[in-house]
Amino acid sequence: MEKFKYMEEYGYEQLCFFQDKNTGLKAIVCVHNTVLGPALGGTRVWNYANEEEAAEDVLRLARGMTYKSALAGLALGGGKAVIMGDPNEIRKDPTIREAFWRSFGRYVNGLSGRYITAEDVGTSTQDMVYVNMETNHVVGLPGRSGDPSPFTALGVFKSIQACCRHVYGDNSVEGKTIAVQGAGNVGYYLCQLLHEAGAKIFISDVVDERVKRVVEEFKATPVDKDAIYSTFADIYAPCALGATINDDTIPQLKCKIVCGGANNVLKNPLVHGRALQERGITYAPDYLANAGGVINVSYEHAEGGYNEEAARRDIDRIYNRMREVLRISDETGALAFQTADKLAEGRIEAMRNVRAILSPRR
Ligand code: NAD
Repeated sequence: MEKFKYMEEYGYEQLCFFQDKNTGLKAIVCVHNTVLGPALGGTRVWNYANEEEAAEDVLRLARGMTYKSALAGLALGGGKAVIMGDPNEIRKDPTIREAFWRSFGRYVNGLSGRYITAEDVGTSTQDMVYVNMETNHVVGLPGRSGDPSPFTALGVFKSIQACCRHVYGDNSVEGKTIAVQGAGNVGYYLCQLLHEAGAKIFISDVVDERVKRVVEEFKATPVDKDAIYSTFADIYAPCALGATINDDTIPQLKCKIVCGGANNVLKNPLVHGRALQERGITYAPDYLANAGGVINVSYEHAEGGYNEEAARRDIDRIYNRMREVLRISDETGALAFQTADKLAEGRIEAMRNVRAILSPRR
């Protein structure tokens, strides 16, 4: 990849490589866009095959965060960090672990608040506690906003209600059938909300105990992992992996709605977004549906500190935003993800102009 060319094409601001020989830290931080505010995005630890793969991942993820925060109405830009390595290896030696994360914290601090980090795949709250010993530019700390998953699930639930209203004329999920893929953090809490609202759940996971828990607690029906796509259900809710809407799965779908917590649900957004539209299946743009977690964590940075009630009120607004996106898409014929992108880009451009006005420091 020609990085400068790619960064120029998609409007990236900054890509930083950090290393610390003593701890073995190899990190890449990407700040995609800071027009709306500091770039917030978690730190992912992953066994990348090489640094090219890691750089491509952080670039893609950081841009996704810009759109997610912009559409969620947050005063935040988009950024992300990736660390090359095996999370279990890093955790093995407690002394190295502390030094590893504190060295990362010092580098994050060096970005002077342009980038705010948080947990992501392969990191824990304890890792962020170490980061916080070196910088205040970190959220998702214990005793503050806590685990984002229930809040992400709440946003997905509101999105499902908005999709039901759009498709069936009524936002109730009572009596609706929902095929949930993934009974992990988000999937579990989503099933809880769906069950309380009277929906009938089909659940799949590659880990049997997770399926069992949802079956026992929420009267769900277990489904084989490959059979989840062809399950007769009103809604398919992907809460595990990305790219599950693709050439293989689309012909199997029996649902009317695709709405879940996973990121990058459409393998090829244009091709597979269009294929869903042609089949009359309503697609809820993923980064709008799963914004509850980032909305919640953003309240750690709000004036007056974290406020769960305000965060929940804000997450409720995903319902109206989703309805708006689906309505505009119907009226214009645009794909739902294109409408979402356009609204996010429109907000960034409007605010870019506002920021051109000279204002004394507060
Ligand atoms: P998680 O790891 O807790 O749960 C994912 C679950 O999917 C696991 O139980 C795993 O066993 C299962 N799984 C893996 N492959 C599967 C397959 N082929 N079929 C069925 N199940 C499979 O992760 P999570 O935090 O619940 O996140 C789920 C998705 O939501 C991810 O794509 C994540 O990026 C996205 N997301 C999460 C949050 C959050 O707040 N946690 C926020 C935004 C987006």
